[in-house]
Amino acid sequence: MRGQAEVNAVRDELERQLGRLIVLIAGQLENSKDHVASLKDTSAHLASVTNVSELREVVQSLISKNEMNERQTRDLEARLKEAQDQTSTLRQRLIQAEKLASLDPLTSVANRRRFEQFIAAAVNNSHADGTPLCLIMTDIDHFKKVNDTYGHAAGDRVLKGFADLLSQSVRKGDLVARFGGEEFAVVLPQTPMGDAFAIAERIRSIFELHGGSDESLVGEFGRLTASFGVAEIREGEPPSALIQRADQMLYEAKYKGRNRTMIWSSSSG
Ligand code: GH3
Ligand code: MG
Ligand code: MG
Repeated sequence: MRGQAEVNAVRDELERQLGRLIVLIAGQLENSKDHVASLKDTSAHLASVTNVSELREVVQSLISKNEMNERQTRDLEARLKEAQDQTSTLRQRLIQAEKLASLDPLTSVANRRRFEQFIAAAVNNSHADGTPLCLIMTDIDHFKKVNDTYGHAAGDRVLKGFADLLSQSVRKGDLVARFGGEEFAVVLPQTPMGDAFAIAERIRSIFELHGGSDESLVGEFGRLTASFGVAEIREGEPPSALIQRADQMLYEAKYKGRNRTMIWSSSSG
C-alpha cells in the first residue's frame, strides 16, 4: 500500500532525526565535560603561578577556552534549531501521510482499515460511557447494471456521488467508510436507533430522487437506489457482531425488494 509506505518512510526519517539529535546532544555533553576538566587544570596551574607573565598566560588560556566553549554552544544552538524545524516539517508530513493512508482513493471516504480502527474505538467508548452507537451498512442496488450499461468510469462517478452524499449527511464525529466494492458503512457514535434510522431514510430518499450529491447523475443514469441495514450496539458486544447484524439487515433489505431501510429489532434474531 503506497500510503502506508509513505507513513513508514516518514516515521523512519523521524527516528533517524531523533538519533542525530541524541548524537548532537551527547557530543555537547562531552564538550562540556572536557571544558570543566580543562578549567580544573587551569585552576590547579594557577596555584603554582609565580610571576605576572605566567599569570597572563593562564588568563589568556582561560579566555580562549571560554571562547571555544561559547562557539560550541552557539553551534549547538543553531543545529538544534535546524533539527527542530526539520522535525516539525516531518511531523506535518506524517500527519498528511497518515490521512492519505486511511482514505479510499476513489471516493475519498475512510478505507476499510480506518473503519476497523474507528469502530473499535467507538464501540469501546460506547461500552465505557453507556452511550448508544449505531452502524448503517448500505449498498447501491443493481450497481452492476450501471457498470454494464454505462461503463466502469460511469460506475466510478456514481460511487463517488453516493460517497459524497453519505459524507454530507452525517455529523462531524461520525465516520463514512467504503466497506468494499459498492458497499459503505456509516458509524454513528452517540446515536440511538431512531435517529440512525431517520438518517438512513433521508439518505435513501435523496439518493433515489437526486442520485447523490451530483444531480446530473440521475439525468444521466435514471433512477438510482440503495438499500440500508441498521443495528445498534448491545451491551458488551464486540464490533464484529454489530457489523454482522447491520449486514444481515442490509441483506434483508435486498431480499425484501431493495430501496429500503431495515433495522435490527429484538425479533430479528
Ligand atoms: P445488488 O442490488 O444485489 O447489490 O446488486 P449489485 O449489482 O449492486 O451487486 P453485485 O454484487 O452483483 O455487483 C456489484 C458490482 O460493483 C460488481 C463490481 O464490478 C462493481 N464494483 C465494485 N467496485 C467497483 C469500483 O470501484 N468501481 C466500479 N465502477 N464498479 C465497482
Ligand atoms: Mg449492490
Ligand atoms: Mg455489494
